[in-house]
Amino acid sequence: MKRRNFIQRTALGSLAVVGGSKALAGSLSSTEPNPKSSMSNSEAMPLVVATWNVPNATEAAYTVLQSGGSALDAVEQGCRVEEANAEGQSVGIGGLPDREGHVTLDACIMNSKGDYGAVVYLQNIKHPISVARKVMEETPHVIMAGSGAEQFAVSQGFPRENLLTEASKKAWQKWLVEAKYKPIINIENHDTIGMLAIDQNGDIAGGCTTSGLAYKMAGRVGDSPIIGSGLFIDNEVGGATATGLGEEVLKTVGSFLIVELMRQGRSPQQACEEAIGRIVKKNPNYKDFQVGYIAVNKKGEVGYYSIHQGFSATCYRKGTNENFASDYFDKS
Ligand code: ASP
Repeated sequence: MKRRNFIQRTALGSLAVVGGSKALAGSLSSTEPNPKSSMSNSEAMPLVVATWNVPNATEAAYTVLQSGGSALDAVEQGCRVEEANAEGQSVGIGGLPDREGHVTLDACIMNSKGDYGAVVYLQNIKHPISVARKVMEETPHVIMAGSGAEQFAVSQGFPRENLLTEASKKAWQKWLVEAKYKPIINIENHDTIGMLAIDQNGDIAGGCTTSGLAYKMAGRVGDSPIIGSGLFIDNEVGGATATGLGEEVLKTVGSFLIVELMRQGRSPQQACEEAIGRIVKKNPNYKDFQVGYIAVNKKGEVGYYSIHQGFSATCYRKGTNENFASDYFDKS
């Protein structure tokens, strides 16, 4: 990866060049929010934006776009990078398991024509984003679940693999014995990769992939694979994707809401803020959970916002890969 190109926005718009994703792991809390977190540049196509600090993933996607590839190919390739990263404990291999010790993955993908494919509760397959694409392109359906999704993946040539790494197994075993364990917002249990891309034709696509909430109840599915919640694209308007407590995103159909707000004239930043506002308004206990959104519109403007400090977005455009600390609602 071209590490020299990766820049982290630290405070008040000042930039610091850092050494790549490994050097940045766990450093999100040290970033300060950028008060003007909305990025705007209509000439900045193609572009990729993703939840969290994932420079390798945005770089892989941007490389596809630079060589004239489609936004759909870009988001698939970008999401695959994090799915294959065994050290990341929230996506693909190495994802933290449910409370029974099973790694169950959710993912979806959406193209500029409005086609969508998803897998929910998929086990033993490292690249759910690619299986989701196969569901979209090779079946008459849009969502496949559990063992049926796994069988379908195998029939499409995906190998079965053990996704529970030693580190994730140990973390789960620790969780089992620590009855009073309480996750720390932004540091544990959250990290879905949601990615939006605009290609050189101006077409938008998105992908979203996750192992869901760590130590969830067996059978639980969150927002990430559900159209309109974890991801939504309308090529006339823009796209949005989410991370955080999926139940709250689902109840407000967050990504669809953001796209519809942009259709009505809100900027991506305003739309993300309004969607977070809806969740906060309905939840007096919002201090206990995190939700973060990113959005992009047809002009290439990008927005991102979260309930609490700690969320960030990575944006690759004009040859520069930058991580932006998100502005957030709860300043108390
Ligand atoms: N949104 C994901 C879910 O609820 C989890 C996360 O982003 O951390 O499954």
